[in-house]
Amino acid sequence: MALSDDELDRYARHIVLPQVGGAGQLRLKDARIAIVGAGGIAGGVLPALVGAGIGHLTIIDDDRVELSNLQRQPIYGSDQIGERKSDLAARFAGKRNPHVKVRAIVDRIDIDNADAILSGHDLVFDGTDNFATRLIVNDASFRLGIPLISAAAQQFQGQVALFRGRPCYRCFVGDAFDADDCDTCAELGVLGALTGTIGNFAALMAIRALVGIGPDAAGTLHLFDGLSLSWKQLRISADLSCRTCGETS
Ligand SMILES: [Zn+2]
Repeated sequence: MALSDDELDRYARHIVLPQVGGAGQLRLKDARIAIVGAGGIAGGVLPALVGAGIGHLTIIDDDRVELSNLQRQPIYGSDQIGERKSDLAARFAGKRNPHVKVRAIVDRIDIDNADAILSGHDLVFDGTDNFATRLIVNDASFRLGIPLISAAAQQFQGQVALFRGRPCYRCFVGDAFDADDCDTCAELGVLGALTGTIGNFAALMAIRALVGIGPDAAGTLHLFDGLSLSWKQLRISADLSCRTCGETS
């Protein structure tokens, strides 16, 4: 696999970075990433990954654009209300970078389809808004041995973490939310610019992990507070009794 003249020009500011270079750019081109949820977090993740030249993206979402989404979901327009987000996100990506192969899956991840949808990817992004889906995505990623970047934003707080094996996302949140859809974003609110900040940070983590830049970020929770404008890092402990990655699972 090689980079065309168009790609060499397009990614010139990457390639000149010693930590990326031509070899790193080829790694990005070779990568397959699944993006679960095409909402606000994806609005930060998608433009960055598409611009970076990730070779294959799968976008999974069954929602349609609503008027109240536009405050924090910048890849959609007022003239697209009612249209399928996954299709629109794929169209957005294709227009932004024709070298990226995008597949839109109009579906909701569940226990029955998660393994089939996510297998074959090098990285999974979860930007969904409910714990039940997040735990299903976590469990499938763990089973399939695929690193997972989980990102969320609410009110003025955002969090992002990369999970690779143990500890997993379930170690972090526990089982409490397994049965319920705990989506409280609609009730509690979220600052529109926050989802983009968190999504963009998550894309940076993905690019670092794929190219192999800097220390490994797996197992560290990155918390952003939009009120104090500060980032905090916390180590996530492995839960020995975790149903997903624990010793008895
Ligand atoms: Zn675990």
